[in-house]
Amino acid sequence: MTSSAARAAAMDAPDGSTGPVALADLLTGGAIRRITRWGEEIMHRPTTPVTVFDAELHDFLRDMFATMDVADGVGLAATQVDDGRSCFVFRCPDIDGEIVTGVVCNPVVVVPQGDRRALVSEEEGCLSLPGAYESLARPDHAICRGFDHNGDPIEIVGTGMLARCLQHETDHLNGIVFGDRLSTRRRKHLYAAHDAIAYRYPDDWPVSPRGPLDPVKAAEAKRSSARAR
Ligand SMILES: [Zn+2]
Repeated sequence: MTSSAARAAAMDAPDGSTGPVALADLLTGGAIRRITRWGEEIMHRPTTPVTVFDAELHDFLRDMFATMDVADGVGLAATQVDDGRSCFVFRCPDIDGEIVTGVVCNPVVVVPQGDRRALVSEEEGCLSLPGAYESLARPDHAICRGFDHNGDPIEIVGTGMLARCLQHETDHLNGIVFGDRLSTRRRKHLYAAHDAIAYRYPDDWPVSPRGPLDPVKAAEAKRSSARAR
């Protein structure tokens, strides 16, 4: 979709549209939604481009920020709250520790190629497989282009954790979870780590909060995770 089409969509917003709103207006007042899990169908198929940038989208994005915050995430894709639109929210530090907050609709990620390409391995986790982390090599820089919540074109230049976040969230909107990028052995470790901690996450988490650490279950989980290795 071109930028003029996005603007036209914003102009044509149906009743209830409040016109352009500041990003700050999306950061409060949202409702917490259940986070979908890996294996649920919506997580493993491509999304549909956002074409309407109206008050309904803004309410939806408020819910996404509220859900990401209560779940302690740095990024959240629409599919993770069971919605098929191509958009994500993020609040994530870059390589200088500066926290960058935003929305990207219809994201496309560009990573360096050839001599300029450098991979960095860091632990990565996903709110849709809560409590588990695994090391994954990704390009250390990423440019993410798309549209903001008002339908204006934006470009986010990501370094450090932000580079990883932009790639991870855009992957989600293409039906890819980071487990798809792991070796079989690492993916097995990741699932074992999640299984060991899954008892703390109710099915509707984070609508219902995470449960406490249970020392008996933690010890059992440690034993079965050791066996999985
Ligand atoms: Zn994720």
